[in-house]
Amino acid sequence: MSKIQFVDLQAQYRGISDEVNKAIARVLEKGDFILGNDVSRFEDEFAAYSGCKHGVGVGSGTEALHLALMACDVGPGDEVITTANTYIATVLAISYVGARPVLVDVDPETYNIDVKKIEKAITKKTKAIIPVHLYGQPADMDSVMAIARQDKLKVIEDACQAHGAEYKGKRVGSIGDIGCFSFYPGKNLGAYGDGGMITTTDNILADRVRMLRNYGQREKYHHLVKGFNSRLDTMQAAILRVKLKRLGEWNEQRRRHAYEYNKLLKGKVAIPYESPETWHIYHLYVVRVNDRDKIMEEFNNAGIATGIHYPVPIHLQEAYKDLGYKAGGFPITEDYAKKILSLPIFPELTSENIRKIAEIL
Ligand SMILES: *Cc1c(COP(=O)(O)O)cnc(C)c1O
Repeated sequence: MSKIQFVDLQAQYRGISDEVNKAIARVLEKGDFILGNDVSRFEDEFAAYSGCKHGVGVGSGTEALHLALMACDVGPGDEVITTANTYIATVLAISYVGARPVLVDVDPETYNIDVKKIEKAITKKTKAIIPVHLYGQPADMDSVMAIARQDKLKVIEDACQAHGAEYKGKRVGSIGDIGCFSFYPGKNLGAYGDGGMITTTDNILADRVRMLRNYGQREKYHHLVKGFNSRLDTMQAAILRVKLKRLGEWNEQRRRHAYEYNKLLKGKVAIPYESPETWHIYHLYVVRVNDRDKIMEEFNNAGIATGIHYPVPIHLQEAYKDLGYKAGGFPITEDYAKKILSLPIFPELTSENIRKIAEIL
């Protein structure tokens, strides 16, 4: 019986190996491993793709968020609003700059930040909002931007799961003040190692993150701020340039798979809701089920990998006990954490795979 992986990176590599191998060889022959030509080329290409003026390659998605917060002058004593259902990295970045994460529950349909609950979370200390485009579906950005403008808050988009997703025709990462992307291998646009990107059209923010990722310098050995070593590798940039050309097609394939799942699963389990204002790119295909443990076991027995994104909400994590939130504080997030189940979705998945998975479910 053939197994179905959660993401099949080897299958993807087989389809692009000639071009990828050539790109790697080009970097090796040139030897420009740190902030080389492929980094600046990829930054320009990704910025153009995302509808932004600037792209700044960094070490990871987590670092993109960290440096974006620093560039926005968020620090100790400040509060940053984000969602209780996100990957831990969103919240860790807030902690890195010494600010306090303030959590908001999710919208029951979209799983994204419930914009109706943001205003109640704002205090005099609030400096920024980080909407997360979870699973590849953009958050309700018009509402987020309206609230932010009214209270003069910065908006940092966590687009780490949403490369190429659109909100009212605009690509994510170009709507807030600054956008953060991850190129972790399993993301819709993934490197062969860690990597990340900051997008913005603000010249000042772009200049700041460019300095921050490279020891706080514009000019070698002249350090204007206490920066970091957080640069996108030239080798990864060269690989990502090959993959960026295919991202649109890959995202389309994911969407087709999602619709195929929808057709087969509708009325049987809670399927994902796609807002008509968005172009969802299905980084994850998440359903809600009762009896999840049993279902996961069935999948496991059939050799099919599934996941949970995420099993423990941020406020119930040991590491965030200090925030003082209690169980029951974010009822939708907590209820969903017990029911959500991520099914395999990646471009190379076949209709036969999808039928088999739906049948077991
Ligand atoms: C993957 C991810 C990150 C972190 O990206 P890394 O490149 O792994 O550091 C941050 N936020 C969200 C929502 C993510 O999915």
